[in-house]
Amino acid sequence: MLIEIQNLKKEFRNDKVVTKVLHGISFNIEKGDFVSIMGPSGSGKSTLMHIIGLLDRATSGTYKIDDKDVTKLNDDELAELRNEKIGFVFQSFNLLARTTVLDNVILPLIYAKNVGNARERGEKVLKSVGLGHRLDYFTNQISGGEKQRVAIARALINNPSIIFADEPTGNLDSKSGVQIMEILQKLNNEGNTIILVTHETYTAEHAKRIINLKDGLIIEDTKVKKRRFATDGELLK
Ligand code: ADP
Ligand code: MG
Repeated sequence: MLIEIQNLKKEFRNDKVVTKVLHGISFNIEKGDFVSIMGPSGSGKSTLMHIIGLLDRATSGTYKIDDKDVTKLNDDELAELRNEKIGFVFQSFNLLARTTVLDNVILPLIYAKNVGNARERGEKVLKSVGLGHRLDYFTNQISGGEKQRVAIARALINNPSIIFADEPTGNLDSKSGVQIMEILQKLNNEGNTIILVTHETYTAEHAKRIINLKDGLIIEDTKVKKRRFATDGELLK
């Protein structure tokens, strides 16, 4: 199993208050799945994504990736595993401005000390998201939809096992949103495992499965009965 999560809990504390956010979350994700995590604002979607994406730690519970218990890892081991296994796409793109598209995309290779053929590999992933003509533009000189495609290319550069996308279409016009969903569905068809966080049902239904959160608990975990395909242009309607 790619991901196994059992009774995961998360609380945030400072010296005055404790905020309990996740109250015991359990689910598995197989390689090649495409899962949407849904729920209203404040239900704990981003908190859960940060834990599954190894950006944060749970307070208790077990979490295994490829049968490896990640709760036992120290911070350096966690960062190494994250660089190796996980690609992130965020609502707000998180790109470096006044830096070229290509340099943004190959930055993770430099962190991973894996710089062989960096330019070549960067060009290849950028071409795969339709940005072969934007390599040397600064990221503040391209559109929002193009920025998000740069972020996807950056997420792909290390060949991750899992791609996380937290509200990736949230800041985009509907046409650019369609392009992003189309790319995510294509990547999934090619065998990539995708975890998409969204509060919109129609976006979530592009996945194969939907996990619904409410107040830090899973209230539903079901297969999508009538899947939407971005190639149908449904987000445009
Ligand atoms: P969602 O992504 O579903 O909107 P979040 O995971 O961002 O929800 O937040 C869930 C709850 O956890 C919210 O009530 C939020 O205020 C709280 N929360 C998130 N991060 C922190 C933090 N670092 N410290 C305290 N509370 C937090
Ligand atoms: Mg969120």
